[in-house]
Amino acid sequence: MRIILLGAPGAGKGTISKLLTARNESVHISTGDILRNAVKEQTPLGKKAKQYMDSGDLVPDSLIMGIMEERLQEPDCQKGFIFDGFPRTIPQAEALDEILAKLNIQLDFVANLDVDVDVVLDRLTTRRTCSNPSCQAIYNIKSMPTKVEDICDKCGSPVIQRSDETKEAILNRLETYNIQTTPLVDYYSQKGLLKNIKALSSDDVVNEIMAGL
Ligand code: AMP
Repeated sequence: MRIILLGAPGAGKGTISKLLTARNESVHISTGDILRNAVKEQTPLGKKAKQYMDSGDLVPDSLIMGIMEERLQEPDCQKGFIFDGFPRTIPQAEALDEILAKLNIQLDFVANLDVDVDVVLDRLTTRRTCSNPSCQAIYNIKSMPTKVEDICDKCGSPVIQRSDETKEAILNRLETYNIQTTPLVDYYSQKGLLKNIKALSSDDVVNEIMAGL
């Protein structure tokens, strides 16, 4: 499986990716997770990315493309990949096309998860994430709480609200998405690669993606 998941913040890209990797051998590659790890470990990339992320803005394309060109050449990508949160801009999509052509890799399709803004807002403000960078399990205080309050079921680390999940940062992320990322829907539609998926339950979305392969 070689797919891109498009969809607003909170559309469920992370959750769907994790469910998909449980059903095939593809790797889940989330640029958000890579950047959050870099921030946590205070690497040069993390130091450059933090200010953009905290305010809900996109990190510059030049930083992202370097990471992704390297990531795609790691051996685990040979069995397939699910891109979550990448590409996010037309220049990223164009640069990705060049990298894929160079590496002789073809995308299966681009799944566009379509969710109402109200649903997304509610989901993001109630979302909690495991603070352990190698876990990053996702919970929701309403629909999927941890068994013990604020402690990750999977690894026992504290579960936190991400610093870019304040209401102000969320509204900015949604606006950034509308302006910079929604043009990708037309971009991939013109290439005949787009598959629109009305995001109902996670299982329905996963089944629809698997059926499209
Ligand atoms: P996410 O977890 O995908 O919502 O990403 C969290 C934050 O990381 C975003 O709000 C951006 O600041 C940054 N980010 C993640 N992926 C990208 C990308 N492909 N291009 C630019 N910035 C990104």
